Order: sequence, then C-alpha cells, then structure tokens
Amino acid sequence: MVSSEAAPLAKTGGLADVVGSLPSALRALGDEAAVVIPRYASIDLKNARRVYDRLAIHFGPAQYDISIYQAPGEFPLYLVDCPALYERKGFYGELGVDYPDNHIRFAVLARAALTVARFLFRTEVFHCHDWQAGLVPAYLRTTFATDPTFLGVKTLFTIHNLGYQGLFPKPALPEVGLDAGVYRPGGMEFFGRISYIKGGIEFADALSTVSPTYAREIQTPEYGFGLDRALLARADVLTGILNGADYREWNPETDPLIPARYSTDDLSGKQTCKRQLIEEFGLPADAIQGPLIGMVSRFTRQKGADILAEVAGEIVAEGMCLVALGTGDPEYEDFFLRMAAEYPGRIAVRIGFDNALAHRIEAGADLFLMPSRYEPCGLNQMYSLRYGTVPVVRATGGLDDTIEEETGFKFAEYSGEALLEAVRSAAKVFADQDAWRAMMRRGMAQDFSWGTSAARYSALYRQLLAGPGVNPLAGKIF
Ligand code: ADP
Repeated sequence: MVSSEAAPLAKTGGLADVVGSLPSALRALGDEAAVVIPRYASIDLKNARRVYDRLAIHFGPAQYDISIYQAPGEFPLYLVDCPALYERKGFYGELGVDYPDNHIRFAVLARAALTVARFLFRTEVFHCHDWQAGLVPAYLRTTFATDPTFLGVKTLFTIHNLGYQGLFPKPALPEVGLDAGVYRPGGMEFFGRISYIKGGIEFADALSTVSPTYAREIQTPEYGFGLDRALLARADVLTGILNGADYREWNPETDPLIPARYSTDDLSGKQTCKRQLIEEFGLPADAIQGPLIGMVSRFTRQKGADILAEVAGEIVAEGMCLVALGTGDPEYEDFFLRMAAEYPGRIAVRIGFDNALAHRIEAGADLFLMPSRYEPCGLNQMYSLRYGTVPVVRATGGLDDTIEEETGFKFAEYSGEALLEAVRSAAKVFADQDAWRAMMRRGMAQDFSWGTSAARYSALYRQLLAGPGVNPLAGKIF
C-alpha cells in the first residue's frame, strides 16, 4: 500500500485509520501487506531500522537522496526518509497553504514505493491511496512499462476523497520525470493542469472508493468534482468497499482514554463521561439534562459547518449544548469560534488535533453530528454507534450506508432547516429515556469491523491477479 498517512504515526483523517488497520485485517485472512509512507518530521525514527540507504532518485537534472526505514509493528511499515522534502511542520502544507513542491514530494514517494517493491517487499499488487499515490500507476504504465520486475503486477487505486486531486501546472511533468504523453484528456490532463488523482483513475487496473453510495455519487456531476465522466468511463472496474472500524482502538468497554468504561449491559459509565466532558468544555453543570451534541471533524467546506451555523441559535434554544473539536481551514474554524462566542455556556469549541479528546467526545456526547456536504465513508459515525452516541447525519456517501432509522437520524437536503429537523427528532426521542437507551443499544450492537471489508479487498486483489489485465510488455499505451 502506498499512502501519505497511516495511523498512528501520521494522521489527519480517515485515510490514516484505514491504512493503519487494513493491513492487519488482511493478515488475519492470510494476505501479506506492507505500507509505504513518507517519514515526516513528527515521526520518530528511534525504534525504526534503516533498511535501504542512499538511494538516489533522478528527475532530469534533479536528484533526491532517500533512505528507507522500517518501523516496528504488526506489518512492514516503510518510511521514506528525505529530509529535504518531508522534514517540515505539516504533511501537505502550513497555515492552509500547500507546499509548492508537493508534486515532487509525492512523486518521490511513488518512486520510493517502487524501490521498496523491487528490493524489500516483492508485491503482486500495488494498492494506491488517494492522489498522493496516483503516480504509482502512472509510472508503472510509462517509465517502468517494460521493467521485468513489475511484469504482471497489478494496481488498485482507492479514492478516499475526490475533493483532493493533486493539481499542478503543466511544467511539473518533466520535474517528476513523467513522459509528456500522459498529458492528454484520457491521461493526466485536467483543465490545462496535471492531475495526480487522474494518474490513479486512468492508469490503475481497478478502482475503488470507500462506500457503495459514494461509488455511485462520484459518477454524477454533483459529486464528481469534474471527474465524473472519467469515473463513469471506468465504472466497470470501480467498486465501493466500506471502511472498517478498528474496535481495538474504539471500544467503550476497554478504552483507556475515557474517564469511565461502559457497555450495553451497564451504561452508567457514559453518564460519568458526559459529566466530565461538560466540565472540561466549561459548560454549566445543568447541561447534563439536555442532549449534548458532539462533533469531531476536519473543519473544511466538506463537513457542513455553514448549515450548522445557520441554525445554531435554534438548536441552543431547544436546550441542547454542542461541543466540537476540529482543525482545518481558517474560514471554517471561524464558523465554530463565532458560534462559541455567540452562545457561551451552550456551544464550546476546541481548535486542534487531539486524539484523546476525540475519544472523550465520542464517549461523553449523546448525539454525534455529521452534516457533511459529502462523505466518502466517514468513520466517526461508526465509532459513535459503538459508543452509544446516536449519529445525526446527512444521508450521503458512507453516512447513508451505515446509519439506519433504528440507529440514528438522517436528513437528505443540504440545508440548516433539514439539519434542525433531524436534531429536533433526536431530541424528541431523547426525552423518552427508555426509547433512547434502546436506540443506543441497537447502535452499540452494530458491527462495522474490518472482517467483511478486508475480505472484499482480498477478493479484489485476487480477481485482479487472475484477470488478463494489461501486459506491460505487450506495447506502450501511447
Ligand atoms: P475524514 O477522513 O474526512 O477526516 P473520517 O470520519 O473518515 O473523516 O475520519 C476522521 C478521523 O480523524 C476519525 O478517526 C476522527 O476521530 C479523526 N479526527 C478528525 N479530526 C480530528 C481532530 N481534530 N482531533 C482528533 N481526531 C480527529
């Protein structure tokens, strides 16, 4: 697997959770998987082993010197060390501005992954995640098309979020050693620029995305971010496989990060979690009586802050409180900070990335709100179910696939009004504590563990290997 994130070492969102846990789930099925990610400044190499040294990657006259480390763990996790490219504060940028050399940073990742496969971990399938790994299929179909090492090797490209595409100006092409022939509509050209995600979409043997509904949605103009036609053209090789939840980390019966543990048989610990969460966020003690809404999210346009802000006043007027944790675009962080300023003692917000606090919110809240504009899969609603924190979600992507009438509240239209109506329905059920607890328990009994989904990936890898595919020696694609 080639990725820009893998939990717990490098995480900004769900991609990291998936790449950090799917390999172990595959192992349980008898498959072997290794992961390649960049070694960011925040990753300590103390316990890692240097397994490949002084590898020079050349793009024209430019040279990038890398080493490869292997981190200890359940599966081989290779870290690509190139201080000139990765030893920085952020993964992708700082203060909302992307690093100007991201095209090079993730081209080097792709080339390093090919090196790992050549010398350290002979793979039959490259499973590439999101635009940061989009150059792996592109190089395999061009620069390395006749390289015997990769003869018969297949590629699967998984889209975790179509909203991030890796777009760069055309002159980026020679800077990453890509054949000029890829610059065409059926290749990596995208409205006059070069698109790394198209490297995956056009050149991978198979495509997947992280829920069945999102797989359908991205083939439509509404959700396709300009790529719907390219995806529609490859619909025959595109599937949706729901992400799994890692219940070893997210389980209220065993979670060491929450103030009190609880289960379906004994929910009393959840009340302790709620009380402490209210205190931690500085809300008045009487907030314990009404429904407490929790949110943990990247604060971006995707996640629905705008429609929440429209109706925050009405929600508070219903006697509900809201605690939110997130970080992201300054514009959307502001939405939350303004709500907190306007409704002190009712809405409280923490800006930042804090995994332990995310756990405490999952455990202490009554409702978990995800009013997403789009949501490829979403993991927090699955965690919420397990924590007895009833999800209120917009019916899109994976949210629509995982939440049912019996386990949560869904609204279809992307509007404040629809959101408010769903929250009000939840509050009505909350008022009847027996009905509420029954709903909590139904959610807690749901199982979104990796088992089924990992088996589907495994079957897909096998199907790819059995199929005719493209013989790279049979001729170039241009
Ligand atoms: P996305 O990948 O779009 O961000 P998901 O719901 O798939 O959304 O995954 C989000 C993951 O990141 C969850 O594990 C969630 O708990 C975590 N997360 C998001 N923002 C934060 C934050 N500010 N602090 C801690 N964890 C966060």
